Amino acid sequence: MVFRFLRPDSEAVWKNKAIRKRFARYRSIIDDKEIARYIIAKSIECDFDTNDSIKNLENLLVEKSKEFNLLLNKFTEIIENRQVYNKNYISLVEKLAWKYLENCCFCERRCQVNRADGETGFCYIPKDSYVSSAFLHTGEEAPLIPSGTIFFQGCNFSCVFCQNYDISQSWKKRRNIEDIARKTDSIQLANLADKLVEKGAININYVGGDPIPNIHTILGNLQHQTSNITQLWNSNFYLTEESLSLLVDLMDFWLPDFKYGNNICAEKYSGITSYFDVVTRNLKRIHNAGSGEIIIRHLVMPNHIECCSKPILDFIAKEVPMCVVNIMQQFRPEYLSHKYQEINRRPSMGEIHEVKNYADELGILYEPVS
Ligand code: SF4
Repeated sequence: MVFRFLRPDSEAVWKNKAIRKRFARYRSIIDDKEIARYIIAKSIECDFDTNDSIKNLENLLVEKSKEFNLLLNKFTEIIENRQVYNKNYISLVEKLAWKYLENCCFCERRCQVNRADGETGFCYIPKDSYVSSAFLHTGEEAPLIPSGTIFFQGCNFSCVFCQNYDISQSWKKRRNIEDIARKTDSIQLANLADKLVEKGAININYVGGDPIPNIHTILGNLQHQTSNITQLWNSNFYLTEESLSLLVDLMDFWLPDFKYGNNICAEKYSGITSYFDVVTRNLKRIHNAGSGEIIIRHLVMPNHIECCSKPILDFIAKEVPMCVVNIMQQFRPEYLSHKYQEINRRPSMGEIHEVKNYADELGILYEPVS
């Protein structure tokens, strides 16, 4: 029997007309009236040779993506009755992901290490993926719960205030990953997802650390899942254009973080370059292509209202207005925050109100998910 742990707001949120409109397809998948994207992808035949060059495979991906998007507009009954191919759109993106792994370019750190041959880059994640936990999450945004959440070990960021530092970074070079997380291949990952569906999950939520270093395993697992369930990408969104191309058609829902309103703060607290440029580029892409069903998580940081919160909200209102925003007030000075006096406290209620008032002025939809 499916058992759902529901918060009252997880039902009430669907009474909000704007939420129903912006998340119409996601809701229809929950109600089994539309089909998850990854299932549709299995009905697109892809004929390629495993020795094909990256360039040839990328060209084929462009062609097949067009075919996929034409198919999406057809009636559900037509899609349901299509043949499923063994070598399909998912086989193609999985193959490309494994090729990228040989010169890793999954995120904009572009370490260019051969992870397929045992090398590791900044994230320290080898060829295999490691899951630290998987469970039915009831603490996510109201439209998402209960969420079948799968936490991957490791991260491509080094945020000094990370609240998950045990799975994201503090283990690096100190502990063997095998001792703290479970090695999980694509079939095992699909089994985990299936179990979460049996327990009542309404989406499969890939998170971490960050899921980015595990794109190859996550894409491979789609070949083995069978339930009509939303696939959700929950990430810092520091993806390269190449790796986002692998995901953009297949994810039904997006849950990107948007922490910093400029590149300087990002470099200072997360050790990454060009953050604002990369994340805004990627957000525009998923807003204008792909499902376009997005909740942006903005974590309000103390003393970062003018430099981060307001520029972020300005960007959202202007460039990606259909995104819903979770204005998060749960920043805590964790991990190494004590070394940075300006963020070594929680944000004040005054700061939170200032951000929410600014979002109101810009007409941003945030209340139902914040
Ligand atoms: S996923 Fe890891 S190895 Fe690959 S580019 Fe990013 S940090 Fe480097």
